[in-house]
Amino acid sequence: MLAGLDDLRGPLEELYQQIHQHPELSHQERETSTEVARQLRSFGYDVRDGIGGTGVVGILSHGDGPTVLMRADMDALPIREDTGLPYASTRTVTGVDGGEVPVMHACGHDVHVACLLGAASLLAGGRDHWSGRVITLFQPAEEVGDGARRMIDDDLGRVVGDVDVALAQHVLPYPAGHVGTRYGAVLSAAESLRITVYGRGGHGSMPQTTVDPVVLAAMIVIRLQAIVSREIAPTEPAVLTVGSITSGSKSNIIPDHAVLQLNIRTYSDRTRTLVLDAVHRIVTAECQASGSPREPDFETFDHFPATTNDPAATGRVRAAFDEHFGADRTFDLPLQTASEDFSDIPRALKIPYTYWGLGGIDPEVHRTAEESGRLDRDIPANHSPQFAPVVQPTLDTGTEALVVAALAWLGPSNVG
Ligand code: ZN
Ligand code: ZN
Repeated sequence: MLAGLDDLRGPLEELYQQIHQHPELSHQERETSTEVARQLRSFGYDVRDGIGGTGVVGILSHGDGPTVLMRADMDALPIREDTGLPYASTRTVTGVDGGEVPVMHACGHDVHVACLLGAASLLAGGRDHWSGRVITLFQPAEEVGDGARRMIDDDLGRVVGDVDVALAQHVLPYPAGHVGTRYGAVLSAAESLRITVYGRGGHGSMPQTTVDPVVLAAMIVIRLQAIVSREIAPTEPAVLTVGSITSGSKSNIIPDHAVLQLNIRTYSDRTRTLVLDAVHRIVTAECQASGSPREPDFETFDHFPATTNDPAATGRVRAAFDEHFGADRTFDLPLQTASEDFSDIPRALKIPYTYWGLGGIDPEVHRTAEESGRLDRDIPANHSPQFAPVVQPTLDTGTEALVVAALAWLGPSNVG
C-alpha cells in the first residue's frame, strides 16, 4: 500500500508548503479545514465538517473490523516567521485584541495535516489491504487547549460512534526520518492560575495604616518555590513558574491588590492535586499572615490534560514501527515538558491512545549539533520563529507512520 507514496509525494509536498504559507490562528482554521474536507471527499471519505468550529472528521469503512481514529491539529501561532524558507509565511491577521498579528506554523501542525491527508489517501487507495473503519480527525485550536473539548462538546462521540483506539503524532526537534514512542507519561498536564490577593491601600509614607499586597505577593512567590523542592518527591517531575506579577502604579502609593499568574506542569493526577492543594494552602495562609482584609481569588485558565500513553496500544504501534522502519529509525521518546489537548478526545470516548514523536530536523544538522553539545542552542524547537522542519524525509515518515500504525489494528501485516 505504501508504494502509492511515490505518486503522492509531489502533491503532498506542494500541499504542505501551501498550508505553511497560509497559516491560521486557533479557531480561525477556515481555509485549512475547507481544503481538508475537500481532499477527504475526493478520496471517498464520508465527511462531517464544522464540528466544534472548524473541526473536520472523515470516515472510511471497509468490511468488518476495529475502528482507528487518527488526529491532526490544524492551528498556527501568532509568531513572525524568521526561517528564510522560500515558502515562509508573511501573513498577518487581526488578533483577539483587534491588533495586527503575524501568523506562522511554528509548531508543525501543517506537517500533521499533510501527513494525515497523505495517510487518508493511501488507506483509501489500498482499502483491499485492510478491514474496519478509519476515522481521520482534524482538530482546531490545540495551541489554546480547547479545540479538542469543543469538538467533544459538539457531539463528536455521536459522529464517530464506537472507536477502538486513538492515535496522534507531533513533529519535534529530533532527526527527520525517525519516530519516537514512549510508554506511559509522555506530555505534562499544564494549567495556568490567576491569583488575586488583597491588601489595604494607602500612602507610601504611612505603611502602618495599610496591608501591603506587594510584600504579600513577594512572600507568596518565595514560598511557592518550596512546593516542588520540599513537598514533591525528587523522582516526580513538576514545574511551578510564577510568570507574571502585577501590582501598583506609583512609588509612593501602597496598592490594594496584587495579581500573580502561575503556570503548573505535572505528569500525574496525584502530583497535580498535591501541587494545586499546596498553592491554595500557601496563598491563603500568607494572606492571613499579612492580615489581608479579603480571601484571595483563584481563577484557572489554559488547562491542558496530561498525555499518558496506553501500554498495550503503544506496544502494538512500537512493534509495527520496529518492523517497518527498523531499529535505527525508531527511538525512545524522552518525557516532554510540553502539553497537548489530544488526550481529551480518547478520554471522552473512553478508549486507549498513543501519541508519538516524529523527527523533523535534517539528520546531519542534528548530528553536528549533538556532537558539539549544542542541541538546545543550534536547533530551533517548536514555537521558535526559526522552527523549520525539513520537508523530507519528514512528510514521508509521518505519512508512513500513520498508515503503519493504523494497519496494526486494521490490516494483515502486508504493508508493501
Ligand atoms: Zn505548539
Ligand atoms: Zn503543537
